[in-house]
Amino acid sequence: MKRCTKCGIEKVAGEFSKDKSKKDGLYSCCKACKKLYKEANKERYREQGKLYYEANKEQILEWHKLYREANKERYREHDKLYYEANKERKREQNKLYRESNKEQIRERKKLYNANDSRRRDERYIAARIKNGYTREEATILRGIYKSTKRGEQNRDTCDQLFMAGLL
Ligand SMILES: [Zn+2]
Repeated sequence: MKRCTKCGIEKVAGEFSKDKSKKDGLYSCCKACKKLYKEANKERYREQGKLYYEANKEQILEWHKLYREANKERYREHDKLYYEANKERKREQNKLYRESNKEQIRERKKLYNANDSRRRDERYIAARIKNGYTREEATILRGIYKSTKRGEQNRDTCDQLFMAGLL
């Protein structure tokens, strides 16, 4: 039996957490008190955890990586089993989600496509600039390239080429 330093109640050893630094190998206050304390200081604990993470980020990430490496096979097996077991449920869920979020999904797709097209434009233009064209010329070339793709190659694009000194 051991008396808790917080609530003063005498309790059996099992009611105390283990603490190797203590003479009797037990935490000074009982589990119930410890839990209460933790609850009351949740915010502070979270803050501390965050600070600890920030200060030891590199090490923690490295450690996680090593752990994942060491347990790769186990993770893969687990993922596979999980996937198999939840395949049907997942499919059903996805279907429901798609059906009830049709509008949002369409909007998101549109936005994604617009961004994707912009990204491709930027890549194309950057490559042309690297080849010695000015940004303006590269932009015109991109426009022509796209109109060609759409089958809209016409007199305007020839004029543009001419004005850009590319024809
Ligand atoms: Zn206690």
